[in-house]
Amino acid sequence: MTEGTALGLHYSYELLDTDLLPEGAQALPRLLAEAQRSGYAGLNITYPCKQAVIPLLDTLSPEADALQSVNTVVFAGTQRIGYNTDCWGFAENLRRGLADAIRQRVVLVGAGGAGSAVGYAVLQWGARTLQIHDLDPQRALALAARLSTQFPNCGVTATGDLESALAHADGLIHASPMGMAKLPGLPVPAQFLRPPLWVADVVYVPLVTQLLAQARAAGCRTLDGGGMAVFQAAKAFELFTGIKPDAERMLTGFNARMRLNNPAAVPPP
Ligand code: NAD
Repeated sequence: MTEGTALGLHYSYELLDTDLLPEGAQALPRLLAEAQRSGYAGLNITYPCKQAVIPLLDTLSPEADALQSVNTVVFAGTQRIGYNTDCWGFAENLRRGLADAIRQRVVLVGAGGAGSAVGYAVLQWGARTLQIHDLDPQRALALAARLSTQFPNCGVTATGDLESALAHADGLIHASPMGMAKLPGLPVPAQFLRPPLWVADVVYVPLVTQLLAQARAAGCRTLDGGGMAVFQAAKAFELFTGIKPDAERMLTGFNARMRLNNPAAVPPP
């Protein structure tokens, strides 16, 4: 909204919360049809509708197809096109925040929706091996199998042994909900965090999670989840409007809002 106004656009961004509707997520076909009929440029889609929306679309972008997960729908005439900008948002965050980091061997914790998107992004970014850990080993195995098919030249495996995986890793990406304000805690024992390991978190409320605070205290380079949240929104904005927004301005505004909410959890500009 703020970026649309800054660019002089008549931009309206409304919340459609399926939790507030009697039919819940079953309302998705109706909401899509109504939004398209009312002239909306598209919709952002979030939990729990990222897979359920797919049969309602005409085309998927290569990333959305590979991940079987859609977070942005664009209406193009009568057509509905599905995209996954989480993947792009995380990749952009990596390119900006850890451009020169060694990324041969990466460990991913969390094999759900966010884990799939960031796993795909880090393999596109050049990781040669990816070891995936999840509290539910079946989810780690399933994601490793899928990514192995999509990146046959990379070594993608599931692991239950975080200690030895991290002992040889260049980077750790955290993509489970652990560390969110409502789910505090460390997804990885603090003693496994040591330089030159870099640590990227996708959790962004708070921006400085316990994991990032511990990693910084140990001397590791870190990347918070705010960039991913902002850059996926910037890409969706571009898809809706055809105009490239000022992603830096969006990030500055986002960090300012986060600082207002919790001054201790955001590093000063
Ligand atoms: P999800 O429910 O689809 O998947 C979470 C996965 O983490 C599950 O497979 C679960 O078994 C696993 N898990 C839970 N606790 C764990 C632990 N302690 N150790 C290892 N694995 C564990 O959820 P999701 O949609 O993937 O979201 C995960 C997090 O990513 C949430 O905090 C969400 O807010 C965040 N997220 C951030 C962005 C962003 O733009 N920064 C985008 C999407 C999601």
